[in-house]
Amino acid sequence: MFFVFFILATVFFAIKSSLGEELAGCASPEVCSRAVVVTKRTHMSRGENASTTYHATFEFENGERKELRLSGGQYGYIAEGDVGMLTRKGGRFIAFRRVEDRYTAQDPDRAVHVCRSCGATYVGRVCDYCDTPWTEK
Ligand SMILES: [Zn+2]
Repeated sequence: MFFVFFILATVFFAIKSSLGEELAGCASPEVCSRAVVVTKRTHMSRGENASTTYHATFEFENGERKELRLSGGQYGYIAEGDVGMLTRKGGRFIAFRRVEDRYTAQDPDRAVHVCRSCGATYVGRVCDYCDTPWTEK
């Protein structure tokens, strides 16, 4: 009986480790898939409890698109055109890990910069979020 259990456990861990290698970069393998950030938007609610919510639309390899709600920090971290591994649970955003940037040119007008003021990632010479200009060090 113990021997059977041992074989099952060995098979289980072998499958688990091969999946782990394949989906490296995923926070949680079950709900992780490769995706492109298509577009981002913020929504401001009015009224007594005015608040801003952050959303991004991801496109998956099968062509499906899905808009998920993010935190402000996550929103600043991703840029339109980013390609990465998206982890989600149902309709909830869990994590996005960038694996490549669409804009890799050294031209400052096309390059990805990290804002020195707000920390956001943006393409071009001026931060999309706080209008702080990019400067060469
Ligand atoms: Zn900024």
